[in-house]
Amino acid sequence: MTRPTNAIINTSALQNNLQQVKNNAPQQKIMAVVKANAYGHGAARVANAIANDIDAFAVCCLEEALQLRDIYITQPIVILEGFFHPDELPIIIKQDLQIVISTATQFKQLTKATLEKPVNIWIKVETGMHRLGFNPKDAISIYQLAQQNSNIADPIRLMSHLACADDLNSDVTTQQTKIFSELVQHLKVTEASLANSAGILGWPETYFDWVRPGIMLYGASPFPNSVAEDDDLQPVMQLQSQLISVKRCYKGETVGYGATWACPQTMPIGVIAVGYADGYPRHAPIGTPVLVNGKRVPLVGRVSMDMITVDLRNQPNARVGDPVLLWGKDLPAEEIASLSGTIAYELFCNLGGRVKKESFSKLL
Ligand SMILES: *Cc1c(COP(=O)(O)O)cnc(C)c1O
Repeated sequence: MTRPTNAIINTSALQNNLQQVKNNAPQQKIMAVVKANAYGHGAARVANAIANDIDAFAVCCLEEALQLRDIYITQPIVILEGFFHPDELPIIIKQDLQIVISTATQFKQLTKATLEKPVNIWIKVETGMHRLGFNPKDAISIYQLAQQNSNIADPIRLMSHLACADDLNSDVTTQQTKIFSELVQHLKVTEASLANSAGILGWPETYFDWVRPGIMLYGASPFPNSVAEDDDLQPVMQLQSQLISVKRCYKGETVGYGATWACPQTMPIGVIAVGYADGYPRHAPIGTPVLVNGKRVPLVGRVSMDMITVDLRNQPNARVGDPVLLWGKDLPAEEIASLSGTIAYELFCNLGGRVKKESFSKLL
């Protein structure tokens, strides 16, 4: 036996969530976003589980794309940040990768390079995020220059990104969609993509030709104050561990770094083998729920690097070795994230390297 801290990755839940993408956007092609090691779930595992049911994968950078090619993923792969240096271009061509072009620098480097074959590109359009992309007017000239450049393959595609789709009351999404839609029509583009998970779940007018689900595939809601099941999603990751100590602490004794919490009475304290080095958020406040033997108990004291401590007063029979769930089915990652001042995306991405990941393919 080794340290009992595991992330169980439920590939059936992943399939269920992909089906929800298809139920929402049945006419669209699906670009499954597996950047950042598939949001901490393991890019190879996730890619293998859904490769035959999607139309393309999206990653952040060349290194992430090569990880997928290394395991014989043959589907189209889109590199969302494109290239950082023109010396990536020959590899991009050799591995048949698609790139998003977001800046004038990238475009200039691409058009001036000497390449063996034309590259498949997506032109990123600025519609309201004000992060990356060409404003619509520049996008028109870039698109026309691209059509005439022998380094760029047909068809040329358009992409933009939604800034506020998780807020169903915001009019930013409507504005972004309008700007994008006008450009798509003006250029008669046949492959356009705008929707992320929040777009897919909340804004049908953002679907265009390709949808780009990320967080919903992993079974977390993109909307604030919502959990997976509100959107008919199932959590894919179960972060679990065990009680490694159960001890009696006396009234007034403090628990953990900084002595931030004192026992209000003589009581059992449980120590669990998970800490911020495993990705459990250090800012999880006192009272954050943890499931011990399937029942909620409150976190007490500060989160340490390798351990957390919990109040076991409502589990007087809890013993060393008893199972603990930090998030997953029955304890939404969204809830832990929200209490800790963050989002489920960040909890997943921060999963520690030493946490063992195991696949599981039945409904938990
Ligand atoms: C990460 C990312 C997505 C996926 O977003 P979710 O909110 O996880 O669905 C889609 N498009 C782009 C460009 C991204 O960077």
